[in-house]
Amino acid sequence: MIPQIKPLLGREEESGVLEVLRSGMLAAGSRVEEFEKQFCAYNNSRYAIASSSGTTALHAMMEAVGIGTGDKVFLTAYSFIASANAIKYAGANPIFVDIDPVTGNLSPEELKKNIKKHPGAKAVLVVHIFGLPAEMDEIAELAQKHNIILLEDCAQAVGASYRGVKVGNFGRAAAFSFYPTKNMTSGEGGMVVTGDSSVAEKARIIINQGQRRRYFHEVVGYNYRMSDVHAAIGLAQLEKLERFNRKRIENAKFYDRKITNPKIEKPVFIPDRVHVFNQYTIRVAGREKFTRYLSEKGIGYGIYYPMIIPDQIPYRNARDVGGHWPEAKKLAGRCVSIPIYPSLTPEELRFIVETINNYD
Ligand SMILES: *Cc1c(COP(=O)(O)O)cnc(C)c1O
Repeated sequence: MIPQIKPLLGREEESGVLEVLRSGMLAAGSRVEEFEKQFCAYNNSRYAIASSSGTTALHAMMEAVGIGTGDKVFLTAYSFIASANAIKYAGANPIFVDIDPVTGNLSPEELKKNIKKHPGAKAVLVVHIFGLPAEMDEIAELAQKHNIILLEDCAQAVGASYRGVKVGNFGRAAAFSFYPTKNMTSGEGGMVVTGDSSVAEKARIIINQGQRRRYFHEVVGYNYRMSDVHAAIGLAQLEKLERFNRKRIENAKFYDRKITNPKIEKPVFIPDRVHVFNQYTIRVAGREKFTRYLSEKGIGYGIYYPMIIPDQIPYRNARDVGGHWPEAKKLAGRCVSIPIYPSLTPEELRFIVETINNYD
């Protein structure tokens, strides 16, 4: 069985964790500080604040930029549920926007229509789905023109870039995830990045019980801190991230050249965008038959996502909707993610290609 996902952990992660355990200081400390510093350097970001997960990073980011009760935030209909939940946690409501059928990302044209329909909306949360940067020029222009705060959910796209600029640097703030299925992991973990010192300061306070100085609380904060144990894993992974991403891209290019079955629609490569392939997601009509076939052949697969967010139970409420998302729905009905992780062997890659090409 070839799994669909495989985190790559080695001696570096082991010795980093062991060092923290032996120090006796497990909570947020020097490793977290170092991880934030290294992540800033890697991502060319000004400020980075580590948190306990991608979801808590998103929530802290929302509150740090001033999203609150009753605010409207534009969000792609096609993402992991946490993107929408973070908006809800802040007391705001997502306004779901349909996707570009080619990239799978939030469509700038659809965003434009929604801005007209929802004057006064406060922000747009852009998700770089599967590791492919969204249409940042068009979206940033719209956001600027209409005074909308631009935010990024970079959970699937660490290391990706658009016209030479790494994701996470396009808006007021961005959030990353280091869950084990992402391109790098810290076990659980996340990061808020921003170029704005006041947003950074707020995020740091929100993540740490609302306190700047111990036991003096300025706001109702949260315990969203990352621990030094997790940061030690993250630091070791960050060192390997470029290599991991290069290998993912290499694997994707191999699939792109070798998968020739006309029943399979492959993900696009777009000039000026570095797609880091957190997922290699193909599209197949009659998905159930195809996935049954993959299982029979011992190839793991994932369905990200079988349902668009506005169709999920907590979001069916009319207040949150008022739109149609035909392209997102179409993708949700046909997407299949196949193994793309860096440690796939040439034999495994060839077997996957051969199996898919023999499907009829
Ligand atoms: C993984 C993911 C998250 C949530 O990250 P966690 O670390 O699992 O909390 C948020 N948004 C997107 C798009 C994701 O893929």
